[in-house]
Amino acid sequence: MGAILTFSAAILFSGCTDVIDNPVTPTEPSVDPVTQEKYENDDLMDRTVKPGDSFWQFALGTWLKSHDEEDAGLQGNLINTHSSLLSYAFMESSDPLVQKLLDEADNLGTEDYMNQLFSIMFDLDIAGDSDTPPSRKQLIELLAKMVDSGYSPLVRRTINTDDGVFVRVLTSGENSAKVVGALQSGDDPVEAIKEILSMVSSFSDDPEEDDEDLDVLAQKILEIEETVGMAHNDQYADDLRLRQIATPKRDQRASQFRARRRAADGLTVEDICQALGVTDDYSVVDEQLEPIFTLLLEEDVETLASYLVFYIASQYYDLMPIDWSEYGDIFGMGSGYMNLGNGVKESLYTLLSTKAPELISRVDYMVMKDNIDIEGCRTLMEQMRTLMDGRIAANDWMSDATKGAAREKLAAMKFNIGVPDEQPGASFELIGENLLENVQQLRQQRQRQMMALVGKPVANHGWDFAMQFMTLGTYNAVYAPFLNQLFILPAFLSDGIFPKDNEPMRYATAMVFGHEMCHGFDANGSNYDAEGSIIDWWTPADRTEFEQRQQQMVTLYDQLWQYDGVHADGKMTLAENMADMGGVRLAFELYKQKLSTDGLNTEATNHQLREFFLHYVLFWQEDASADALQDQLEDDEHSANHNRIIGITRLMDEWYDLFRVTDGQWYLTPAERVRIW
Ligand SMILES: [Zn+2]
Repeated sequence: MGAILTFSAAILFSGCTDVIDNPVTPTEPSVDPVTQEKYENDDLMDRTVKPGDSFWQFALGTWLKSHDEEDAGLQGNLINTHSSLLSYAFMESSDPLVQKLLDEADNLGTEDYMNQLFSIMFDLDIAGDSDTPPSRKQLIELLAKMVDSGYSPLVRRTINTDDGVFVRVLTSGENSAKVVGALQSGDDPVEAIKEILSMVSSFSDDPEEDDEDLDVLAQKILEIEETVGMAHNDQYADDLRLRQIATPKRDQRASQFRARRRAADGLTVEDICQALGVTDDYSVVDEQLEPIFTLLLEEDVETLASYLVFYIASQYYDLMPIDWSEYGDIFGMGSGYMNLGNGVKESLYTLLSTKAPELISRVDYMVMKDNIDIEGCRTLMEQMRTLMDGRIAANDWMSDATKGAAREKLAAMKFNIGVPDEQPGASFELIGENLLENVQQLRQQRQRQMMALVGKPVANHGWDFAMQFMTLGTYNAVYAPFLNQLFILPAFLSDGIFPKDNEPMRYATAMVFGHEMCHGFDANGSNYDAEGSIIDWWTPADRTEFEQRQQQMVTLYDQLWQYDGVHADGKMTLAENMADMGGVRLAFELYKQKLSTDGLNTEATNHQLREFFLHYVLFWQEDASADALQDQLEDDEHSANHNRIIGITRLMDEWYDLFRVTDGQWYLTPAERVRIW
């Protein structure tokens, strides 16, 4: 357990005392006294850098040059500690369901594993002793049975929203993790498929398939996987963050596919929809499914049946017992539970995190429901709502009509803070006889819970929805535009990041809360209305002005550096930068109000406001490698941490005043400092 507690939060969160009587002695007359004042995290700063040249270096320069290799920065350290604590809590949980699964995992041998896997396949009717392959109609029925059981081969049944209620959506299935992993690591995906096929065929009663047959089949399966991947639509992704940036697409009623395609044996798209139960008013079919329908109606049935077998085997492949001692310390973590036993427990934890996240959340809930400042966050967020409403009302470039719609949306936005009222997954049961059977049951119960939301109002079931797609312990906060709801997960409300006795830190973190609120009004979120429907509530003139201001922001962020010699991507990061800009302004204003109610004199107030900006940097403290920054530039819609600082501070008049910035590399004239909200 030693490794978990390597980081001492106390160093960074010692109380701030010397607010007024700072012994300020400038070392050289040309240097501004403000930059020489004593600040709480003095030892991180590099005062030889002018704030206007790099506020990031000014606030963190010394730390960046000399930090310990294991020090990942404030949040990096908290995240490491947090995730170790949660996985440890799971491994040591007294929850009877968790204990049952862990016991079963502990005792799982290779032969048990294969027996359990085949038993699942028999139960789903996808393995059997019959020599004749199923008919196409039977195959579709098998597929539907698998989908009911919580699997997603070829297609998946998930939920989305429409006019304020949850609807059932039929969309492209999931790729096998094994193939995705092979592709990501540069391995040959055909080999990855063959590995699973060989495993299945060597344990089945069938005479062993020869290698050439396996090659051909693996190749065909890869083609199916590629079709599934191509038909994938981010709008229906499990990841709320992917959904957040998804391009809105029109759904289609199942009936619109009526008889558009018919297989040689008479089966139609409508039959498929019927079998999968997506035919009523609450059903929509993703139009990107067309290639999958074609596959189901035209691919030879035997190949499809083999694909289903492959898919199930791939779902459990990571649970196959392996003697990890052969691999040494592959996790590189050295914490207590790692590298003990057969490694199945660790794989189980990872598997459940995506396949039955409610079970992980059951434990997270017990660990995190106490000692988090839910009320403090709620109070701050309601104050922010009022502040934001005032900002919209006072906005000088929008018409009254657009302002009215924006304020209506803001008023309707629902804040889900901390933990849900009830423990997630509380109704889950495990009546299976072994590990794989029990995991299978969890998937099935999750699918049923999800479908039980269909037809229900979105407004009352935000948490129920979110807990289908992420674990409660995730170190994150999100806004879901299609719900017009935000989620501040408990990790952001713990004392380490949202302390009661350190106001600059507390308000710096409040910037995240404001950030999520402002996602409702960013380049993407502004396309959704108060109910979460995709409706344009802008007057054309306001929309044009809004987009011009966004373009100015894109241009400003394009100027920044991602890493040496490579510029940032202002377009890709636009929505996140807009949310940052709004969030920091709201948190800053709120802190300023608080200080004035406290009756501080101007000098003391200004010092604290400088501390706010310095803590804002601390919040994003990290020392990212060029490789990591390059990866981020390619596929992360968030700006690099240093640009989350530099890009925002250079837009804020108050920051220029507080740090007396009049020139420097990133200096902008007042007219260049774009304002949106
Ligand atoms: Zn964001």
